[in-house]
Amino acid sequence: MGRIDVRNLRKVFSTGDGDLVAVDDLDFTIEDGEFLVLVGPSGCGKSTTLRCIAGLERPTSGEIILDGEDVTHAKPKDRNMAMVFQSYALYPHMTARENMSFGLKMTTDMPDEEIDERVREVAEMTGIEANLDQKPGELSGGQQQRVALGRAIVRDPEVFLMDEPLSNLDAKLRSEMRTELQNLQHDFGVTTIYVTHDQTEAMTMGDRIAILNDGELQQIGTPLECYHTPANEFVAGFIGSPSMNFLDVRYQDGQLVHDEFSYDLSPEVAETLNATGSGYVLGIRPEDIHIATGDEQNTIATTVNVVEPLGDVAHVNISIGDKTYTASIDGTPNYDPGTEIQITFPEREIHLFEADSGDAVK
Ligand code: ATP
Repeated sequence: MGRIDVRNLRKVFSTGDGDLVAVDDLDFTIEDGEFLVLVGPSGCGKSTTLRCIAGLERPTSGEIILDGEDVTHAKPKDRNMAMVFQSYALYPHMTARENMSFGLKMTTDMPDEEIDERVREVAEMTGIEANLDQKPGELSGGQQQRVALGRAIVRDPEVFLMDEPLSNLDAKLRSEMRTELQNLQHDFGVTTIYVTHDQTEAMTMGDRIAILNDGELQQIGTPLECYHTPANEFVAGFIGSPSMNFLDVRYQDGQLVHDEFSYDLSPEVAETLNATGSGYVLGIRPEDIHIATGDEQNTIATTVNVVEPLGDVAHVNISIGDKTYTASIDGTPNYDPGTEIQITFPEREIHLFEADSGDAVK
C-alpha cells in the first residue's frame, strides 16, 4: 500500500525580508502504485512539497496522510518512504554495497546474509552488480545514480520520493535512465513522487503530473489531459515544446479581433464568449499552425524571420504585427527571411483564456 493524501498543505518560511509562502494550500491525492510527477519552474515549491511529504520539513499547516494514517508529524524514518536526491547523497568512504546495505543494517534486524542477498538482487536489477565493491568516487554519474536508486529499492519502501534524480546526467544517459526508472517503478509498483522542472521529463514519465507555480497547484491530470485541455494560460505555456503561442484578442460580433486580423468563430464557440469582458488570450500550439492553401475561412498574413530545419519538421519564426511566434511546419520549407506567408489554424485547435485570470474558457 502507498496512497498519499496531501491535505491543504502550506509551508511558510520566515526570511530576513518577511514571510515567504513556498507552498500554498496544496491539496491532492496520489494513488497506490501511481507515478506522480511534480513539475514547475524553479522556486515554485516542488522540493518543499516533497520534503514535507518525506518529513524533512515541518508543514506550517495541513496534513500528510499515508494509507489513511496522519503522518504529518511522524519522523522521516517512521514513514517507510525512501528519498533519492539529485546529489545522490552517497557516503563517499563506503563501497556501493555498503551504501546500499547501510540503511537496512541500521534500521532493521535483518540477518547479514539476507541483506547481502537483497543487495545483490537489487544490484542485478539496476545493472550495478559489477560495481558493488567500488566507492562512489570510482563510479560514473549514471552508476552513482543507480547505487542511489538501489539503496532506496533495497529498503522496500511504500513510497519513493525523487528530487530531480537525473539532472546531473548528460542528455543521452538521462533519457536512458528515464526509461529504466519507469520500468523499475512499474515492476515494483511502488508509489512514486518525482520532482522535476523539466516538462519533457514530466510528460514522458508521469502517470499523472501536478503542475505548480508560485506554490499553488495549477492542474493535476494525465500528461495528455494537461497538454490538450490546460486549465489556464500558465499550464498551456509550460507544457509543450516549442511553447504555445499566445495572442491578445477581444470578442466582437462572432469574431476574435486582433490588432492585425479577425478570426471568424462558429456560433457554438461564439456564444460562450463575452463581448463586454476585458478580452481573451488566444493560444495556438506551433504544430497546429498550417500554411494556408487559400481555401480556408481564416487566414493570417505573417512575415518569416528565421527557419530552423530539424529534419521531419521545421520551426518557423514568424511575425504578426510587432510580435513573433513559432510555427512547426512539416518537411523542410524553404523561406527566405522577409517572405510573406499566409497561415491558418482550425478553430478546434485554438485555446482561449480570460485575459484577467488566465483561466481557460475553451
Ligand atoms: P528548484 O526547482 O529551483 O529546486 P523548487 O520548485 O523545488 O525549486 P523550493 O526549493 O521548494 O522550490 O522553494 C520554494 C520557495 O521557498 C523558494 O522561493 C525558495 O527560495 C524558498 N525556500 C526553500 N527553502 C527555504 C528555506 N529553508 N528558507 C527560506 N526559504 C526557502
